[in-house]
Amino acid sequence: MENKIFIKTFGCQMNEYDSNRIYHSVKKIGFEKTEDLESANCYILNTCHIRDKAKEKVYHEIGRVKKVYRNKAKPIVVVAGCVAQAENQEMLKREPYIDIIIGPQSYHKINDLIKNLASKKQKEETEFDTISKFEYFDKIENKDNKVSAFLTIQEGCDKFCHFCVVPFTRGPEYSRSFHKIIIEAENLVKNGAKEITLLGQNVNAYSYKENSKEYRLSDLINHLEKYSELERIRYTTSHPRDMTEDLMDCYNSSKKLMPFVHLPIQSGSNKILKLMNRKHTVETYIEIYERLKKINPEIEFSSDFIISYPSETEADFNDTLDLVKKIKFINSFSFIFSPRPGTKAANLQLIDKEISKERLLEIQKQLFKHQLQMNNSLINKSIDVLVENKIDGQGKLFGRNKYMNSVIFEGDKKNIGKILKIKIDKVNQNSLFGKLEKKNKMRAA
Ligand code: SAM
Ligand code: SF4
Repeated sequence: MENKIFIKTFGCQMNEYDSNRIYHSVKKIGFEKTEDLESANCYILNTCHIRDKAKEKVYHEIGRVKKVYRNKAKPIVVVAGCVAQAENQEMLKREPYIDIIIGPQSYHKINDLIKNLASKKQKEETEFDTISKFEYFDKIENKDNKVSAFLTIQEGCDKFCHFCVVPFTRGPEYSRSFHKIIIEAENLVKNGAKEITLLGQNVNAYSYKENSKEYRLSDLINHLEKYSELERIRYTTSHPRDMTEDLMDCYNSSKKLMPFVHLPIQSGSNKILKLMNRKHTVETYIEIYERLKKINPEIEFSSDFIISYPSETEADFNDTLDLVKKIKFINSFSFIFSPRPGTKAANLQLIDKEISKERLLEIQKQLFKHQLQMNNSLINKSIDVLVENKIDGQGKLFGRNKYMNSVIFEGDKKNIGKILKIKIDKVNQNSLFGKLEKKNKMRAA
């Protein structure tokens, strides 16, 4: 029987990148990717531990898989990612259906673990071995084949915000070799990528030293800029403290760096930022915003917010609301604080649930208002859209504008990979709808 592998991915883009690399790795031991769970004989769950109920989600998913395979041979079941890292032995004890537990820094060992499973013993790999992982990945060509591709350049974090599990699940900060990243980027472009998003838990902390030269994120952006076939460069997620001059200057010098900055602030209150151990203030954040707006007024911001962090008063919350009104973020993530085991904030006194829910609703109302205002401002405008794929069964194409908004329009799939002018005629909070401009039609004909 042919070996087929199915990966279900939760969480951030870094997990998506990892899943893609795992697909390429297991090819070496004869596994082909499948999108059909029932035809797989290896099932990988790539997990996220950032917020509550992460563990329960895993057991729920495994329960679902068990049902699918009730009358069939059991697949090899692998739990990967940050929940695997955090829970390791606990999961193997609680759920015998799981065969392998593998943490994010051990993916270079996945082929051996799968191959050697014949011994029928459950296996766990949760060492922090980032160097070996990337040395291994460097040897496997990253054929993402996508118009918009992800490239992880940095992993882990040394900042230890008091609410966050990342330093525990992804380990210490590590930056990949500049030259190896370039080789991977060249491969992606060769395979059709028109947009590359450089990824890291703190992507702008990227720092790789070789022969007494330090390579920073700005060096990578300046290098990618030279690839004639690459149209767009993005990076995420960045930290306000690492928003250095050289990086901000890229918004001046680069034509391909998109004018959209995802810069998490978490709270608009300095008191709360201090309690969170964020190592930046509201004022420094606003300085960055004003500086970038001066370089290019078209630049728009998005952010992450944690609502009802322990000790957040009504006044602190109102400071966050005021900040949202000032910056007019066009797209953001906001969640109620979720205590994570092992972090400094794990056992702090929580804010009342009802108050938290009300605050979340209020902040989201304000955030969505700006989002919709932004989208409405694009009606009747002709915007550049990078076409990513065809929407299944709809005869429509999907692409994104410079601010990452989804754009949906009718068109031929030969346009995938092109930047087209789309005239927007309808919007909702999350998407823009429009028509191909005539000029494009003539170009494509
Ligand atoms: N490194 C980025 C930074 O410092 O801004 C953020 C990376 S973190 C993986 C992604 C987001 O998850 C954070 O910005 C934060 O808003 C959210 N997050 C992390 N821990 C959380 C928690 N315990 N409760 C709620 N949200 C959390
Ligand atoms: Fe987590 Fe980001 Fe803070 Fe690091 S800087 S601990 S990844 S929130």
